[in-house]
Order: sequence, then C-alpha cells, then structure tokens
Amino acid sequence: MDQQFAQKTRMLDGTVVANAIKSDVKRAVGEFQTKHGAVPTLVAVRVGDDPASAVYVANKIKACGEVGIRSELLALEATTSTSELLNVIASLNKRDDVDGILVQLPLPSAIRESAVIEAIDPSKDVDGFHPVNVGLLALGKPRFVPCTPAGIIELLKRNEVAIAGASACVVGRSQIVGRPMAQLLLQGDATVTICHSKTRDLPSITREADILVAAIGRAGFIGAEHIKPGAVVVDVGMNKVTDANAIRRFFGSEADRRLQVLAKRGYTLIGDVNPAEADTIAGSRTPVPGGVGLLTVAMLMKNTLQAAEWRRSSANS
Ligand code: NAP
Repeated sequence: MDQQFAQKTRMLDGTVVANAIKSDVKRAVGEFQTKHGAVPTLVAVRVGDDPASAVYVANKIKACGEVGIRSELLALEATTSTSELLNVIASLNKRDDVDGILVQLPLPSAIRESAVIEAIDPSKDVDGFHPVNVGLLALGKPRFVPCTPAGIIELLKRNEVAIAGASACVVGRSQIVGRPMAQLLLQGDATVTICHSKTRDLPSITREADILVAAIGRAGFIGAEHIKPGAVVVDVGMNKVTDANAIRRFFGSEADRRLQVLAKRGYTLIGDVNPAEADTIAGSRTPVPGGVGLLTVAMLMKNTLQAAEWRRSSANS
C-alpha cells in the first residue's frame, strides 16, 4: 500500500459545487423571468410507491423551489399501464407551459420503460435519456446530457482537475451513468476506457487511470488495488450498509460516526469505493454522501432552465 498518499486524499465536496450551480441557475431564472414574464416549469412524474423514488422526486421538487423553477408532481398509481402513462406524457408534451418532463426511474416492471422515454418530446427531455439526445451526445453535439455525468464534469472542472490528455476509466456502462460519462470525458479530450462486469483483470486497467469513475452499484467494491497513486476517484455508487463489521472495515477512522448513523437509521450509505482503502492511495475522491448525488439534482435544475431558454429561442426564430 502506498503510504506516500496516506492522509493526503482531498475530498471533492459535492455540496459546494451543487450550491454554486444552483446559485447560478437561480440568478439566471430571475433574468429569464424579467425577460419572458414567466419562470421555467418542470413536471415530475412518479409511478408507484417505491420509497427511494419518492425521496429522489421530493429532493428534485425541493430544489426547484430553491432556484425559483415552478414544479408539478404527478404521482400515479403503481397499477398505471404503459398506455395510460403514454397518454400522460402526450398531454405534457402538448402543454406550452411545461418546459421539462422528468419520469422517475425505475418504473414498475409492468411498464415498458423504453416506450415511455421515447415518448417524451426530446426538447423537454431534461434527463437526457431520449434516443435523440443520446445520439446528439454521441455525435459530440450535446443538447440535454444526463444529470449525473454532467454534474461530475462540473465537479471536475470546478476543482481544476485536468481532463484533457488524462487517462480516464469508467467502471459501469449503464445508459444513465457509465456510457454518457465516458462520452463526456472523451469530449473533454481524455483517453477513455470503459469497464464492466465482463472485463478481465479489472484492477490492472483501473490502476492506469488518472481519473477513475466508479458507477457499479456494489458497496465498497473499488479498493486500493484498483487505484493509481494520486488518482482522482469519483464515486457514483449509492449503497446501503447494515452490517457493523462491514462498516468497521470500510470506514476506518470514520467508523464510529457511521456506526452511530447505523444505530439511528438502521443503515449508512457507502459508494462503490472502499473509503478506508481509497484514502491510502487516491489523490482526491468524492465522499458518499456529500459527493455526486447532490450534483445530479443541481444539473437537473440547469437542464430545465436550458430547456425553457431553448424553447423560447426556437419559438422566436
Ligand atoms: P447499473 O445500471 O446497475 O449498471 C452497473 C454497471 O456496473 C453495469 O454496467 C455492470 O456491468 C457494471 N458492473 C457490475 N458489476 C461489476 C463488476 N464486478 N466489475 C465491473 N463492472 C461491474 O447501475 P447504474 O444505474 O449505472 O448505477 C450505478 C451506481 O450508481 C448505483 O449504486 C446507483 O445507485 C448509483 N447512482 C447514483 C446516482 C447519483 O446521483 N449519485 C445516480 C445514478 C446512479 P454490465 O453492464 O456488464 O452488467
């Protein structure tokens, strides 16, 4: 283990960057209102009673209030069918007062998720999941970029992490994180490697990366052996740990505080990176919580404002 980096790992604070983004958006929403006599509007659609989805949507609605964006929440029954949901989307597409549409994923398994995503008007697709927006990103002409990877780029830039020329590795190839993350790093002129569950000898690849992004969904999976000394490690994972021994193993000097969280809530959150091990070798890393998660919501606000601006400018041209 490389002691050279012991106790030197810098935390990349998502709170600071998310607040800076939201404050920029709030100012721009004020200017938008002065110019257009209305504020941007986001409609969030939630289907069913998944508690995690309810929390995510509530956080998004709260953030809208903070930056002055008008929001509506449509909470639909878990029994909603694909065609009923498509009708809801069609009516939101038609409404001129709606700038952004967000359908909280995952949807109940009976609903065809891809049909719903494809039904959203691409000009209102503030999550950036519609094939048109995915295609524009792949062509290097991004319009709406998925919020989590877009937020990570903001975090790297605002912390003056050099992307151009860097060797970047993204572990995970999902549509919402891994793939768009790799595209954005490529557009920033990094040399990008994408890894996934079939990758052979993962540590030998991740250990080459100056910027390592972990978007896997496995608690504390990335250990010291995966990390190049001094690397920037971005931890996208959000996993619950309920086992006290695992908490002691993962959190090192922070374990006592995390055990108190466990006693109070019944779990504590950990990312895909083992923080105790990462802190012996990484140059900097994002904490969980307090890292990437906050940026996702801030970038949704930014995308909604952009949707409103672009819709007004295309209506006037
Ligand atoms: P996902 O759709 O389940 O994708 C996970 C990816 O990890 C897949 O590409 C999978 O490879 C890869 N993987 C799984 N096991 C692996 C292994 N042993 N070695 C290498 N790669 C492996 O997950 P996701 O939606 O991208 O989310 C990833 C994590 O980020 C989750 O913890 C999620 O909760 C979190 N997340 C956080 C935010 C936020 O705002 N902070 C937003 C979104 C997601 P295959 O493709 O081969 O299966």
